[in-house]
Amino acid sequence: MINRKSREETKRMRHAGHIVALVHQKMKEVIEPGISTKELDDIAMKIIKENHAIPTFLGYQGFPASICASVNEQVVHGIPSKDMILKEGDIISIDVGATYGGLVGDSAWTYPVGKVSQEIQRLLATTEESLFAGIAQMKEGNVLDDVSKAIEMVANREKFGIVRQYGGHGVGHNMHEDPFLFNYSVGDKTLLKTGMAIAIEPMLNLGVDEVEVAEDGWTVSTIDKKPSAHFEHTVMVTDDEPLILTQLMP
Ligand code: MG
Ligand code: MG
Repeated sequence: MINRKSREETKRMRHAGHIVALVHQKMKEVIEPGISTKELDDIAMKIIKENHAIPTFLGYQGFPASICASVNEQVVHGIPSKDMILKEGDIISIDVGATYGGLVGDSAWTYPVGKVSQEIQRLLATTEESLFAGIAQMKEGNVLDDVSKAIEMVANREKFGIVRQYGGHGVGHNMHEDPFLFNYSVGDKTLLKTGMAIAIEPMLNLGVDEVEVAEDGWTVSTIDKKPSAHFEHTVMVTDDEPLILTQLMP
């Protein structure tokens, strides 16, 4: 069963998403060589709290921070640290969630640190493109597999690895709700209906698909140590165009 949101719930999710977008706006501004991922976490936490929201990630299954900060070959769930200092040519994926009025917004973006190589630029552009290809399928009457297929097609075109063990998910009163959304086609015929909200989050790798979890129990990295990118928006099916909830409100 996928929860369909009421007007009131949608309003609060939109607000939560706006706060998440404010964090990303700031991240884009402050990410540069020399800053630590702990500093980024502190900045994110401050913005979320100033806006009367709760950092959804903090304490989630014991996660110790407000953002996930995953650098280079790290795919997702990187723990912010004062010892992780960004340097020219790195990429960093920031994933952040905010809960406002009991509802969640969840969005991730991969940022270049200074100037990055051309192949990394292509990885970032393609992963972002695959996210928007997925979003375009979030229409009443489509099925979940249409979203998965659209993401997979863009990734395959560029021959990038697709992370298999992690994917998108329903969002609402909880960060992770049904359904699970694969970033490749598995034939899921679940019908998309107005009011459903799903976090779409392709994770593409410059190398192979396979990833592993570090000894800290959190950090997921590619097994070949090649860079990985992660782009995510929380998106709602409406009777009109797909509504991206995790963007700045006008
Ligand atoms: Mg996320
Ligand atoms: Mg998510």
